[in-house]
Amino acid sequence: FEKELEESSALPTVTKDGRKLEVCGNVGSLEDVKRAVQFQIDGIGLFRSEFLYMESDHFPTEEEQFEVYSQAAELLGDKELTIRTLDIGGDKGLDYFEFPKEENPFLGYRAIRIGLDQTSILKTQLRALLRAGASGHIRIMFPMIISVEEVLKALQILEESREELAKEGVPYGADLEVGVMIETPAAVMMAEELAERVDFFSIGTNDLTQYFLAVDRGNQKIAAMYNSYHPAVLRAIYQTIRAGHKFGKKVGMCGEFASDPKAVKLLLGMGLDEFSVSPGEAANVKYQIRNASADEAERLAKEVMKQPAVEDIMRLLEE
Ligand code: PEP
Ligand code: MG
Repeated sequence: FEKELEESSALPTVTKDGRKLEVCGNVGSLEDVKRAVQFQIDGIGLFRSEFLYMESDHFPTEEEQFEVYSQAAELLGDKELTIRTLDIGGDKGLDYFEFPKEENPFLGYRAIRIGLDQTSILKTQLRALLRAGASGHIRIMFPMIISVEEVLKALQILEESREELAKEGVPYGADLEVGVMIETPAAVMMAEELAERVDFFSIGTNDLTQYFLAVDRGNQKIAAMYNSYHPAVLRAIYQTIRAGHKFGKKVGMCGEFASDPKAVKLLLGMGLDEFSVSPGEAANVKYQIRNASADEAERLAKEVMKQPAVEDIMRLLEE
C-alpha cells in the first residue's frame, strides 16, 4: 500500500470522473517547504509566516523576509505559494513586542487586527511579498478577517506598497492574487461580499470550529465538543464554498479538517477546490481524491447537509 500511495502522489490530483483538484501543503519554514516538495504537493496553501517572526529577536526586516519568501518560491518553481500575513496574538506571542493584557486573547488583539493597527508592520511584510512575487508564484492571504472594511483597508495598504516600490524602481509582482482566510462566523456570513473583493478563499477550520461552536480549541475539558462535523460548522463550510463559486473564486481549506480521513470525500462533494494539509498527510488525501467520484461525493454531501446531528452525519460518512 505504501508503494501505491507513493505512486499516486506523483500523478495529477484528479477524481475518477475527471474533476481536477489541488492537494497543497501547510508549512511554517523553508525546511518545511523542502519537505513538502519531497512529498510532491501541488503547491503551498498556507505558509504560516508568524514562525519567521517568532524565531527572530526583532521584527524581521523587509530584506530578511524577502530572502525567505524568494527562496521558498524558488523551491516551488511554478507551483503556487500562498503566504499568510502575520497571524500573531491569540496563543502566539513575540518576545520583542508587548501585547496588551487580555481576558480573551483569542477574541482580542491578533492577526490582521494588529496589521491594520500597526500598519508599518503589515506594510513591511507586504513590500517583501510583492518583491518576492516579481519572480515567484506568490499569493497573499489575510488572516482572521471579519469584515469588508478590513479587506479594503488591507488592500489599500497593499496598493500603497505597490506605489512605493514603483516609485523606488524596485521590481515587484504586479498581479499577485490576494485572498482571505474564512475562519470567523462573520466572514462566513459576509462571504459573498468578500468574494467580490478578493481572488480566493481559504477556510481555516481550526479557528472556524472554535468560533462557531464557542469551544476553545485548546481546552482539554471540552475537547469532545470541539467537532468540525457539527452541522453548523459543515453548513458554514458549504455556504463559504458556494459564495466563493458564485463569484468564480477558488475555495481552499487549510484547517486540520481538510485531512480528516472521513472529511475528504464530503469536502470534495461540497465543491472544495484545494485541500491544504500537513505535508505528511498529502499522499493520503490525494489517494482518496483519485479514488473518489466527484458526482458520488456530491450526492453524499447533499445527504449529509440534511442531517441535524453529528451522530447522523458520522453514520452516513462511515457507511
Ligand atoms: C485555522 O484556523 O484553521 C488555520 C489554518 O490557522 P491556524 O491554525 O494557524 O490558526
Ligand atoms: Mg486560524
